[in-house]
Amino acid sequence: MSRIVSSLKERCSSLSILRSINFCKHDRYNSLIISQNQVHGKECRAYLSVPVRWKSVSNRASSFSAISESKDSISIEGEKIDQISSPVDSKDSLSTSLINEQYGYLSTFQKKNDSKDEQFSVESAPYQRHSTLDLIRSILVLKSCQIMGAHPKLLSQIEHIFASRKIFPVTSSFLTFIIRNTAFRHFCGGENIQEVRNKSLQLWKIRTGTILDYAAEHTQEDRKNATKKKDNIVGNNSVPNFNTSTPNKPNQPARTYDYDTEYLCDKHVEIFLECIRAAESISEARKEVAPETENRGKSFAALKVTSLGNPFLLERMSSAISEGRNLFSKFDKSHTGVISRKDFEEGYRLFFKDADERLPNILERMDPDDSGKIDYVTWSKFLGPADLPRIVSSCRKAGPLFRSTPTGKELELIHVMYNRINKVAKEAARTGTRLLIDAEQTYFQPAIDNITQNLQQRYNNIDMSPEGPIIFGTHQCYLQSTPQKIHHDVERALRFKYHFATKLVRGAYMIGERIRALHMGYPSPIFETKAATDACFNQSLEYILSQRVLQNTKSEIMLGTHNSDSVKLAMKLLNDLEISSSETIYFAQLLGMSDHLASLVMTNGHIVYKYMPYGKVDEVIPYLLRRAQENSDIFSESSDDIYCMSKELLQRIN
Ligand SMILES: Cc1cc2nc3c(=O)[nH]c(=O)nc-3n(C[C@H](O)[C@H](O)[C@H](O)COP(=O)(O)OP(=O)(O)OC[C@H]3O[C@@H](n4cnc5c(N)ncnc54)[C@H](O)[C@@H]3O)c2cc1C
Repeated sequence: MSRIVSSLKERCSSLSILRSINFCKHDRYNSLIISQNQVHGKECRAYLSVPVRWKSVSNRASSFSAISESKDSISIEGEKIDQISSPVDSKDSLSTSLINEQYGYLSTFQKKNDSKDEQFSVESAPYQRHSTLDLIRSILVLKSCQIMGAHPKLLSQIEHIFASRKIFPVTSSFLTFIIRNTAFRHFCGGENIQEVRNKSLQLWKIRTGTILDYAAEHTQEDRKNATKKKDNIVGNNSVPNFNTSTPNKPNQPARTYDYDTEYLCDKHVEIFLECIRAAESISEARKEVAPETENRGKSFAALKVTSLGNPFLLERMSSAISEGRNLFSKFDKSHTGVISRKDFEEGYRLFFKDADERLPNILERMDPDDSGKIDYVTWSKFLGPADLPRIVSSCRKAGPLFRSTPTGKELELIHVMYNRINKVAKEAARTGTRLLIDAEQTYFQPAIDNITQNLQQRYNNIDMSPEGPIIFGTHQCYLQSTPQKIHHDVERALRFKYHFATKLVRGAYMIGERIRALHMGYPSPIFETKAATDACFNQSLEYILSQRVLQNTKSEIMLGTHNSDSVKLAMKLLNDLEISSSETIYFAQLLGMSDHLASLVMTNGHIVYKYMPYGKVDEVIPYLLRRAQENSDIFSESSDDIYCMSKELLQRIN
């Protein structure tokens, strides 16, 4: 206990004596509130997140007033809490680990929580429109997902069964039938655009918008067609299939870029164009299904850049951009993020041989106002992947920047990929559909950000798009680099006169990122604790909104979160900062989850948008399983949904 208490004291310095210990619901995580009622006239509280599996306990537990500690146990109202369970997994916060390490699962609580019904009275409303059959199905689906979320190995076994089902055709159709009528129906919009359209319009009747998310990955049929098309591609696009087994050799491709991928990426462009047109038509049709809605709501579509370009190529491009950033840090002797002209000149001479010839021109581009200063925002514009080959040709020696620079062939492919994405973005701009560019793993993200910034500069231009932004990037708040990145991105938008727009999320690839960092021997890019990620999320939200007010811009944020505290904070900030437009912040959740939270948002006058994956069952389910493996804790968030649905069901039975 002493370790927990000292960890608490660090976080809440005025906390000196522990008087009461309560279990309550703080966010979707259960929390142990350890509070001292009055410290210097102020209520001082500290929260500790506890594992989701404690939730069943907190449903029954309420307030405990008497707490006593001994060296190795804690008693609450005379009841000793000393049961130890298996260690918590990595997704729980540090303080959770500390508590669990010592006490484990507190299974002995049997108290009733009187306030829970009150808490969900508003949030239960959305479930009243569901049929009883739908309620039972949803409860079963979410319950199974919770079990899978708690046992990631089970998830991979299911994925394996799903992958091998084609061997037994009868089993396969049966399995597809079951999935279509359970998980698919719960989490997905449909198999084709018509079904997605119908579901979207149904949702709009209850003021819920949709974000179309084409979720399928490459199918077997696509792969067969891709192989057949090889010759055509050679003839038309000259897309090379180059292979080398010498990674890291200067200016040599380290990976394989195959025709299949290129063909499939071209196919995905067609699908995304169809998706954007559908989003537009849904938006148009909303007025007919719900004429009372004064505003027809925005249309949104999501896009994963890795579906439009070879992931290996994105990785190459990302490492080149990261090396460009590292070079800036080497020039930045003062570590302030701003380099004086003098330091820049010295740095340039140290690394490049053509200083006399090229420096005057470079300096003119880097510091057009003659301010004597160069910052990362200007530098990053100058050092895009296409500029690199020319720049590194005059490197004094073959360092990391030299090695990561894309080859001529790779640049061709980058260009083809950029054209694909641009085609989709252009259609989004034409139809007024907001295009959300998803964030992915850190080894792809610099390339994705670079592409997003270029598109934003083009399509979010203040004069071209006076009503607001079209292209949204994504910032993942579990990354330690995010606060600085947001700062740069807001500044870049101001400087180059375009609307800043982002989807703010916590981040979906935490476990994978940590494992990769461990294996490859670099520091994990992820914050160490959930609390730090939460703080980053809240501060980023506050920063973007306050900048919007200070700079009088039309920045927009989509909040991709199921965290009720974050949602409440956003609504409070809108109020405090007197931001009148309800279209500054869009609240987004995954379809089939957190309807009680959606209801709360709607009650406060905002529209909720649901991410709606769609595609053929056989294609979408493997995609969802893979995403679920990467982000298994999302399933554990469904307890509140299950609670509200069960309550509604019980009311009907009684
Ligand atoms: C509409 C929508 C769009 C999304 N788009 C993307 C996207 O483009 N890219 C993407 O990566 N994700 C995306 N996500 C997923 C998102 O990043 C989260 O994984 C998910 O929403 C859970 O976070 P939360 O804020 O809802 O809930 P919370 O339960 O409050 O947060 C859980 C998240 O906190 C972080 N976390 C948990 N434990 C720790 C710890 N010990 N240390 C540090 N951090 C921790 C992790 O990011 C975890 O996912 C999207 C989610 C939604 C709803």
